Amino acid sequence: MFELFKIGFLSVNFLDVVDVLIVGFIVYKLYTTLRGTIAAQIFIGLIIILIFSFAAQAVQLKALNWLLRLITDIWVIAFVILFQPEIRRLLVLLARNPVMKIFGKHDIHESAEIIVDASFELSQHQYGALIVIVRETGIRGYAETGEILQAKLSKSLLTSIFFPKSSLHDGAVIIKGNVIEAARCTLPLSATTQVDGENLGMRHRAGMGISEQADVISVIVSEETGGISIAENGILSTGLSKDSLRKKLKEAFVTPTPKSWKVLFEQFKGQK
Ligand code: ATP
Ligand code: MG
Repeated sequence: MFELFKIGFLSVNFLDVVDVLIVGFIVYKLYTTLRGTIAAQIFIGLIIILIFSFAAQAVQLKALNWLLRLITDIWVIAFVILFQPEIRRLLVLLARNPVMKIFGKHDIHESAEIIVDASFELSQHQYGALIVIVRETGIRGYAETGEILQAKLSKSLLTSIFFPKSSLHDGAVIIKGNVIEAARCTLPLSATTQVDGENLGMRHRAGMGISEQADVISVIVSEETGGISIAENGILSTGLSKDSLRKKLKEAFVTPTPKSWKVLFEQFKGQK
């Protein structure tokens, strides 16, 4: 059909040209978006394997072809493993249900107020704290690393947990709605070790780490400086005032805005 020209025994028709142009365009777009990231290197690796694989098939090198196919299959698995945090975050964002947000709004505002007040009191005393606020999907696995409390959230309970001589002060508190689910929890550490040139300690990395892996917001009060930070989607905002903490907490409970998609995309691109 619509034969255009021949290269040796290959006859090239109009559809072939369109086909090649589309694939070329996709490959080019993928490459330009991923350029400079680790994803690009992996991507180039795949292209090289595919080219070899194609060549091996053309000249009928069966064993080499078999080997290259095997590598391509492994590559897919490797991709999933390498980008596990990003894929996981993407799925969390996709799974976030906007309808659920309408319910329990009252709870959220009241809880946010309590958390803001408690964080400021802790910060004035320079007591360290790590508070994880769960949106909808619980993080039971992490809650179980600590002491399950299931206690009604109150400012005095929250501040007394983080009192340095309290036996529950170490690790993180997990809050869902108006309940403190657990205290003294161990969280996964973020791979990020610096923000704005400042080295991050374990508390801040744990707060960031959990926000990378689950649908949560972490509030971190520094023992060293009394500074208050928030981590969401793996992004740490430091040096918050009372008003900005309140604003950020309330904002964070609103449905994922295109902004959180953008943040995720930027992080994906920013992988070095
Ligand atoms: P600060 O500014 O308060 O000093 P930091 O980010 O410098 O915070 P560290 O000084 O390393 O952090 O704080 C150590 C505290 O962080 C520990 O006492 C513990 O309560 C908490 N912490 C450390 N690792 C974890 C973890 N994996 N999960 C939860 N909490 C953790
Ligand atoms: Mg420290």
